[in-house]
Amino acid sequence: MFGWQGKILRIDLSEGTCRTEALPAGLMKDYIGGRGMCDRILFDEIDPRIDALSPDNKLIFATGPLTGTGAPAASRFIVSAKSPLSNCVSSPCCGGYFGANLKYSGYDLLIIEGKSPEPVYISIRNDEVNINPAGHLWGKVSSDTEKTIRAEMKTRYDLDNWALNTMGIANIGPAGEKLVRFACIMSDGGRAAGRSGLGAVMGSKNLKAVTALGTGQVNIADVEGFRKAVMEFYQEGRDNGELYKRRRYGTWGLPGRANASKTQAAFNFKEGYFAEFAKYEDPEVIIDLIRVRDEACFSCPFGCSKRSRIKDPEYPLTAKGPEHETMALLGSNCGLGDMEDICRANYLCNELGMDTITTGAMVSCAMELYEEGYLPEKDLGYPLEFGNRNMFKLLKQIAQREGIGELMAQGGVTFGAKYGHPELFMGIKGMGIPAWHPQALDALGLQYATCNTGGAHTKSTMPFYEGRKDPAHFVEFTKKDQDYLASADSGVLCWIIYHGPLWGEKLSQWLTYVTGTNYTPEGLERLGERIWNLERLFNMKAGITGKDDTLPPRILKEPRVKNRVVVLDKLLPEYYEMRGWDQNGVPTREKLKELALEKEGAGVI
Ligand code: SF4
Repeated sequence: MFGWQGKILRIDLSEGTCRTEALPAGLMKDYIGGRGMCDRILFDEIDPRIDALSPDNKLIFATGPLTGTGAPAASRFIVSAKSPLSNCVSSPCCGGYFGANLKYSGYDLLIIEGKSPEPVYISIRNDEVNINPAGHLWGKVSSDTEKTIRAEMKTRYDLDNWALNTMGIANIGPAGEKLVRFACIMSDGGRAAGRSGLGAVMGSKNLKAVTALGTGQVNIADVEGFRKAVMEFYQEGRDNGELYKRRRYGTWGLPGRANASKTQAAFNFKEGYFAEFAKYEDPEVIIDLIRVRDEACFSCPFGCSKRSRIKDPEYPLTAKGPEHETMALLGSNCGLGDMEDICRANYLCNELGMDTITTGAMVSCAMELYEEGYLPEKDLGYPLEFGNRNMFKLLKQIAQREGIGELMAQGGVTFGAKYGHPELFMGIKGMGIPAWHPQALDALGLQYATCNTGGAHTKSTMPFYEGRKDPAHFVEFTKKDQDYLASADSGVLCWIIYHGPLWGEKLSQWLTYVTGTNYTPEGLERLGERIWNLERLFNMKAGITGKDDTLPPRILKEPRVKNRVVVLDKLLPEYYEMRGWDQNGVPTREKLKELALEKEGAGVI
């Protein structure tokens, strides 16, 4: 078999059993891998109406046919489950070494079911799979968890340093254990499957970590053609100025760019510009301030990830990031401009295991509630105006569910409602809005509002590329890019490198060489559309409707940036029509027939 390993590893934590299954050929053909396969399995195997934190939810770690092949920026992995934050099907993508190790162990997918009676961690080393006690890890922050597990694996398998350092570990911090609804899954020294609260799903299963160390291989159908195409892309990476910038700066080139164009979320989205960020318009400034080194995910020649350090004994380790989204949501959007302070907030979220975007949206909401006099200081125990460093205390309280953190751990809608102003939580389907202010570009607002997983920026492309800036094509490209990205997330390709047109072109090329099946950009767009519609059907069965395809009132009614609001009432009907959905956002019978999803639509259309 080429590309895929052809095997699923299924672990039932309630029963304490592990078994392998053949990967169905239909899954490979129609869903590729990663996100597409996860969607299909969740649709078939769980009732979308379940409580996402119950043992009935399933947590899937998924690779794609490109994982571990050496295709550039293509060895990330997908984690998927029903989200306890948005109630939608969700599939954050994570970098590092875990995906390649799972694949080299011989598995395309790892499906985790049930709930362990006691804390455990799973270790996978090729076909040796163990469910290990994790009582001694419970309560540990992410870096300590990884360190302890690496030491245990070293002793158990007598590993050399190479194996130790390239082993993949996915784990949760205290926030996941405490079921904070926006807890994330951390991996390999600070990477994150960040959005939608899957760390809480892992915590609900009493699962502290999963490790993978594989020594197998992935077969490639056309080795010579693949090698040549990869070398050409390496060269393009050296010659192409845009790709060079992504390598040199990662996402650190973006805060200045967003701020200069008045697109940077600031002060709970009341503004699109933060004066204190003007100094970061030259990304070399950020590099000089905090960069320790660059890092790469498995077999990625771009190595865009930045590791940072600050001079503060309370924050002794280096940390991954902060990425642009973190700089915005925990920085400018909370009125925090000092880069070392932003690093402190990033460090805490990574160690405690919380999504920096939704966490930032929670904190900025609390700051506005406080400044407006809706949130009394006695409930906090300290002042919390924008820019106040008491936010570090608040981050710890949220992760530990202490004091006001107990309420905030339940998410922004519940928190805002308790103080009479749910509209001050800047979220979509419960998930915090990402860094780019949607009032700057209507296309962003449409992407955020219609995203199947909630307010996310990585399920379509930013509208800054060829053709995508033209308002006449906003709707067309939003749909097109959502569909392409559904395929790219199934491959699995890195969103940072493969934007817009590159998705179809490169994904079809890599998949064809690797699997020996002929893929075309058009075919992948179609396949992605099918995945997108399947997600829509899952969400509808979970109770999501067209009414949830919206934006916070501030974005729709208060012209805060460039004197504009997002005209969603105009864009949404056009978008639904282009998708072949009715005016309530329900896929039509004809569209489902065209996509061979008629059976799946039964009961919801
Ligand atoms: S571009 Fe960056 S995030 Fe993407 S795979 Fe490479 S190192 Fe990882």
